[in-house]
Parts: sequence; structure tokens; C-alpha cells
Amino acid sequence: MISERELLATVPTQLYIGGQWVDGSSGRHIDVHDPATGAVLATIADASPADGIAALDAAVAAAASWAATPARTRAELLRAAWEQLTARADEFALLMTLEMGKPLAEARGEVAYGGEFLRWFSEEAPRIAGRYGPNPEGTGRMIVTQRPVGPCFFITPWNFPLAMATRKIAPALAAGCTVVIKPAELTPLTTLHFAKLLEEVGVPAGVVNVITTSTSGAVSEPIIRDPRLRKLSFTGSTPVGRKLLEQAAQGVLRTSMELGGNAPFIVFEDADLDAAVDAAMLAKFRNIGEACTAANRFLVHADVAEEFTRRVTERVAAFRVGRGTEEGVTIGPLIDDRAVAKADALVADAVARGAQLRTGGSALEGPGTFYAPTVVADVAAGSDILREEIFGPVLAISTFTDEADAVRRANDTEYGLVSYVFTRDLARGQRMIDQLETGMMGLNVGVVSNAAAPFGGVKQSGLGREGGLEGIHEYLDTKYTLTPM
Ligand code: NAD
Repeated sequence: MISERELLATVPTQLYIGGQWVDGSSGRHIDVHDPATGAVLATIADASPADGIAALDAAVAAAASWAATPARTRAELLRAAWEQLTARADEFALLMTLEMGKPLAEARGEVAYGGEFLRWFSEEAPRIAGRYGPNPEGTGRMIVTQRPVGPCFFITPWNFPLAMATRKIAPALAAGCTVVIKPAELTPLTTLHFAKLLEEVGVPAGVVNVITTSTSGAVSEPIIRDPRLRKLSFTGSTPVGRKLLEQAAQGVLRTSMELGGNAPFIVFEDADLDAAVDAAMLAKFRNIGEACTAANRFLVHADVAEEFTRRVTERVAAFRVGRGTEEGVTIGPLIDDRAVAKADALVADAVARGAQLRTGGSALEGPGTFYAPTVVADVAAGSDILREEIFGPVLAISTFTDEADAVRRANDTEYGLVSYVFTRDLARGQRMIDQLETGMMGLNVGVVSNAAAPFGGVKQSGLGREGGLEGIHEYLDTKYTLTPM
């Protein structure tokens, strides 16, 4: 396996614009840190607003020829990217662990998941099709075609550095769109490294452009307000998404928004508790709890609450915390000091309102930004932890006795990304599908993400869907033509 030092020496540190690796025009740089040690991993270019517009210029210049490239050619490039990524899975996994902190085994899982979008959309590209038919009056022919929307701008978060990029880039390229992507400043290396892979497999200059910056707002806004941009896709927090929607409104820009979540995890009294406990570990602690799909509120029927709490506490207390590169580590560091302070404040508030601390409950000694895997039980209504995204390894349990009350409490949030339900009762499962306000649901499973499925939320969790048959339509415009019979 490649060493950390060898790997970091191969990762680009410049901006990727129009097929060239270039320095930022301001001459400023960003240090990228390892959250497990605080050490600087790399120093990369810090783009200015002018660099952002240069990247958009490149995406605009490449748009017509990429849209005219046969779908089969676009598909083969995506397929080649998937093959390369899969062959180099260890390298990409290590890079993500270094800059984001997740354990290596989970980073490998993200390479597989993120890679699937390349394969799935390589298979979708040749199937973009329209419709043809006579009008009902019999006087005309109606022709409906699907066209690439044009140049796109992508803003991605730090928690899934590869998958959040491929989930947007793959359908855009499949549809015939060109791209400017701005990864999070905390984890930009994976996107830069992936752009180099795309260059190596032969994706033409200007089709994918990467800008990295410490001034996201100042660099993004002129791109979003530029009339040549045709689509904005954002994954990140709801407050930033709201701000970007305001900017996009000016030009009536098409947008996709993958925003925050506050997932309920409901365990009914008839649930298979072994399955519920296993799934709880995944739904809560995958990615160190730093996932938009992370179970945030465990609602457990009073009859099984103590047993469920005892069993999850046993499992959580046995987690091994450490740098994600170390063998056997299951919980890595949080992304930064702010994330640790937030987890700590949420736990303190819950305990102050009467919750029982079963394990964990404090930050761990540095270096690195670690928080002890935590279980709090009997969390009272009104606690901050039930309202806010925890984004850390903290499992918060409340109890209920009545199904209707569980549904009411599950829906008592402005978010609606994903819900998890554990029951052996099929009719009850169907009622939950109907009654929970959610874009996705895990019925007796703890992870729902799949490249072949439409990922996305309702309410303030966002707009649009990524993946599945729906995903490519985010990048296509429908054009209707009428001709005489
Ligand atoms: P964030 O909103 O702070 O940042 C996301 C991205 O937006 C980053 O690239 C950041 O640099 C950029 N950004 C921040 N302010 C900006 C501005 N004013 N203008 C333009 N860009 C700006 O979110 P985060 O902390 O990086 O990520 C965590 C959040 O992302 C959580 O809320 C999580 O639920 C959400 N998320 C959602 C999904 C999903 O698919 N629904 C997936 C992963 C993460």
C-alpha cells in the first residue's frame, strides 16, 4: 500500500481550470489539516473571485462540444473513471482518512459507494431519450427532447469528500453538462485528486474544473449570479442552502439542494432488537456520526427502551477511538474544534434537562479533535439535541408508548431527509411509509444510500434527487416541439 507521504506528494495543490493546473491569482494558500493530529497535510491554492469566473469561462467554453459528444463516448469516460477509481481504491480511501478522519474501512466503503455513481450514470448516459407522438387532435406531431442544461456549479461539504463530488459530477457529465466544483475548504484534496484521475482517463479540458478557496461566499456568489451558469447543485447545511437559493433566485437558476437532516430512528415494541441494535450502530456511528443521514433522535417504545439502551451502550462503550489509519479504530476524530464543542454542548444541555448519561459525554485529550462515543437516555422533550443536527458520535434516546405520538414527534422538525423504522408488523410499516414526512426511509435497515436510488429530502432538507433514474433529470431540460402532421 502507498505510504502517506508518497500519496500526498502526488495530490495536486493547484486549481484545475480549462484542463490546466494553475496557481491562484491572489497568491494566497490554504493549509489542509489532519483532524487526528492537527498536522498540516498539504498547502493548496486559495482561489479568488476572478479565479472562480475563469473556471466558469472554461466550463462555458467546453459546453457545446461536450454536449455534442456522443453519449456512448461520455459513458465510456465515466466507466473508465469508475475502473480507475476502483483499481486505486486504497489510495483514495487513505486520502479521505487523512483529510477527513473517518476510519480506513469506512473510507474504502465511500470509494465503493462514490464510484457507483460513475458506473450507474455511465449506464444511464446512452438511455437519455425523448418522446414522440401525434397530438390528440391529429393535426400535429409532438416531439419532446432532453437537452443538457449547460454549465453547472457544484458546492460540496467535507463529510463525504469523494461521494458528494461523484454524485454530482457523474450525472452532469452523463447528461452532457460541464462543471465547476468547489469542494469544502477542510477536505479539498480528494476532489483535486479525483479531477486528476478524470484528466488521466481523458475527460476533455474544461469539462470539469476545480476551485478551492477559503472565501467560499465571495468566490461562489459571482458564479451563481453569472447569467451563463445554468444550474447550481449544493450539498451542505440548510442555512447556507437558503442563502444560495436567494442568490439563485435573481437569475431563476435551476437548483438542487441536499441539505441537513434530523433523522428519527423509531423502535417499536415488536421490533427485532438484534437487528435494531446492529442498524443503530450503522445509522448513528457510520462516518463518526457526521452524516446528513445519521440517526439523530432515537424514539424507542417504553417496553423495550431499557433493553435497547443497555445493548447499545455496551456496544458503544467498546468502540475504539483513534486515528482512522490505525487498525481496529471504529471512531475517528471530529472535523474540528467547533464540532467537538457542539457535541459537548448538546450533551450538556440534554443532561441538564434530566437525561441520563450512560457512556461517554466528554471531549478527549488532544492532539486531534476527538469526542468520546456517547449514549444519553431519557432525553426530555425540548432538549436542543432533538432539534439540531448532532453531527457527532452521540446517540440520544427518548421513549414513547403510543404509535400516533411517535409519528407526531418524528415529524416535529423542519427537516425531512431520512427516517428509520423498526417493526415486524407489515401494516404498521406501511402506515409509517404513509405518515412520516421524509424523502427516504429505512424500514428495518440502518443505511439507505445507493447509487441506483433517488437520494434527497422533503421540507427544509432540500430540493431535487441525486442518483437513481431521477438523478440525470436534474441535468436535463425538456424541450417540446410541435410540427404539422
Ligand atoms: P456547510 O453548509 O457549512 O458547507 C458546505 C459547503 O458550502 C462547503 O463547501 C462550504 O465551503 C460552502 N459554503 C459555506 N458557506 C458558503 C457561502 N456563503 N457561499 C457559498 N458556499 C458556502 O456544511 P458542512 O459543514 O460542510 O457540511 C455539513 C452539512 O451538510 C450538514 O448540515 C449535513 O447534513 C449536510 N449534508 C447534507 C447531505 C445531503 O445529501 N442532504 C450530505 C452531506 C452533508
